Amino acid sequence: MTPWCKDSFRVCFRLLITVATLVSVTAVLTARGSICEPIGQQNIIVLLIQNPGAPAPALTSADYYAGFFGPELSLSEYWRAASYGATWARGEVRGWYTLDATYECSNIDGIRAAAIRAASDVDFTRYSRIFIVLAGFTNCSRGGRATMSCDPLITPAGITFSASTAWILDRTYIRDELYLAAHEGGHNFGLMHAQGRRFKNTMLGAPGDLGTVEEYADPLSAMGASNLGPYAAPQKARLGWADVVNVTSSGSFTLASAETSPHFIRVRRGSTDTQWLWLEYRPNAGILIHYEDETTEPRATQLLDFTPDTPSWFDAPMPVGKSWTDSYTNTTIAVSSSSAGMVTVTVTYGRKKQFGLAKLPLRPLPSPSLWTRPGASTPTGTLTSPHTVDRK
Ligand SMILES: [Zn+2]
Repeated sequence: MTPWCKDSFRVCFRLLITVATLVSVTAVLTARGSICEPIGQQNIIVLLIQNPGAPAPALTSADYYAGFFGPELSLSEYWRAASYGATWARGEVRGWYTLDATYECSNIDGIRAAAIRAASDVDFTRYSRIFIVLAGFTNCSRGGRATMSCDPLITPAGITFSASTAWILDRTYIRDELYLAAHEGGHNFGLMHAQGRRFKNTMLGAPGDLGTVEEYADPLSAMGASNLGPYAAPQKARLGWADVVNVTSSGSFTLASAETSPHFIRVRRGSTDTQWLWLEYRPNAGILIHYEDETTEPRATQLLDFTPDTPSWFDAPMPVGKSWTDSYTNTTIAVSSSSAGMVTVTVTYGRKKQFGLAKLPLRPLPSPSLWTRPGASTPTGTLTSPHTVDRK
């Protein structure tokens, strides 16, 4: 079983606590409607279950209610902060229930069916998200599992409903459960992991260089390794929580703190429309740069390491005041401090890129001032494989 949010847990709380002003994303709110979309109120039923004969769990239903729906460190407030006020959670906690038999960890469908049977007085039609907390389960190879969509389900009374499901193991401290809930809840929204993409002795290899992908490497996102950091910029845009401006020509741009502003910058690498660098400013960390090319799983993110000579991913962000030049395309990104809470990003496409463009078919370039939302279509309900294979 993998421990969660261990030595880095202080970082997660600092990141969450420093999320300050919440900005309403009303345009996004009005564009959505389905009960399973990651916008607006998420209606959650939390089912606390244990195998027969299991020792008493450490946490009570009141602890879980605070951890999911409370006004401070809760899943609801994590989503509200990460989404700039667009998404939050309401619901209830039931249990602890003792199941009607002993279930193996791997039997997740059987566990869910037994949990629904046990919670016979719950009106499941009121909820679109089920979180099942498992106590007294041994030999679990994973800390959590999650569906990547809402699936049709049925109660023993024959009542049908549709919901996503997350399975998480019980813990001693509710803050550990909060990380797991944010991670598996991200899967329920259709997100995959916050990966790291590493290249030898450089932040970014030549175009087409696959480098090495490390599945949970990003320590600044709950979709990565053991941290309650907000989902990264590409995933916020995918969820419809943020906008992104595509930069395709030289110029200077203002980038506000990702803690308060749902606007990000996506810089084209050289002249190729399939390779992009997402820029995200986090005042406590620096400039996070996520790479996107033809090989990037669109539901995942790939953090680049500005200090590739060290094995750590905690020093991956580029400090404000630094610049980086991609020698393969002669693209330069320089970041300088600006007014409070903001930085100035200067993008320069050098001569090598201009020569390359001359060989391309002529067509109008998108305006840098045009705010777009790539990949913002709903991630739910389209995946054929309902479960992630997840060790977190
Ligand atoms: Zn996962």
